[in-house]
Amino acid sequence: MPTKEITESQLDSQLVKEVEAKSHTKVSSCFQCLKCSSGCPLSYEMDYLPAQVIRMVNLGLRDEVLKSRTIWVCASCETCTTRCPNDIDIAHVMDTLREMALRSGKAEAEQDMRRFHEAFLSAIKTWGRVHELQMIGTYKLKTRKFMEDADIGMEMFKRGKIKLIPEPIKGRKAVKKLFRKT
Ligand code: SF4
Ligand code: SF4
Repeated sequence: MPTKEITESQLDSQLVKEVEAKSHTKVSSCFQCLKCSSGCPLSYEMDYLPAQVIRMVNLGLRDEVLKSRTIWVCASCETCTTRCPNDIDIAHVMDTLREMALRSGKAEAEQDMRRFHEAFLSAIKTWGRVHELQMIGTYKLKTRKFMEDADIGMEMFKRGKIKLIPEPIKGRKAVKKLFRKT
């Protein structure tokens, strides 16, 4: 994990308030027990552990958090959330930070994961649920990596895991409304 000196001018006291308001979870109640980090299945791929991200939010290290690799590596599995003794919804915090990074133009790390995230949201916005074919198509167009994992895609298609026509859901209009609101 990287270590570096922090100067007072880097600290943004508004960050924790903003993250708490957007994620509806009390990040400031973290007492650094590290239970979230020790249970995270993807911590080995992260530049900062989940507990460190929470600490950085509390300190107000906006740039470091929004440019971190961790927020894009997180798979929203919610293991950390269920382990937190203070009921901090860390998975939701990660999602909030991804959105903040996208809106601020600071999403520099893991460009392909960022594009995958955008493709995923685009499919949800259109169909109210994931339509794998649209999601993969959007992702491929964004990354221009048309042949990467093509063999896996073909295999999934043959096994019926990728449907040509999306199955509509009942609450599609409500999902669209949610996107408009947020
Ligand atoms: S499990 Fe909760 S209290 Fe413990 S370090 Fe993680 S966020 Fe903080
Ligand atoms: S939700 Fe993200 S940070 Fe939390 S345990 Fe899963 S991968 Fe790790």
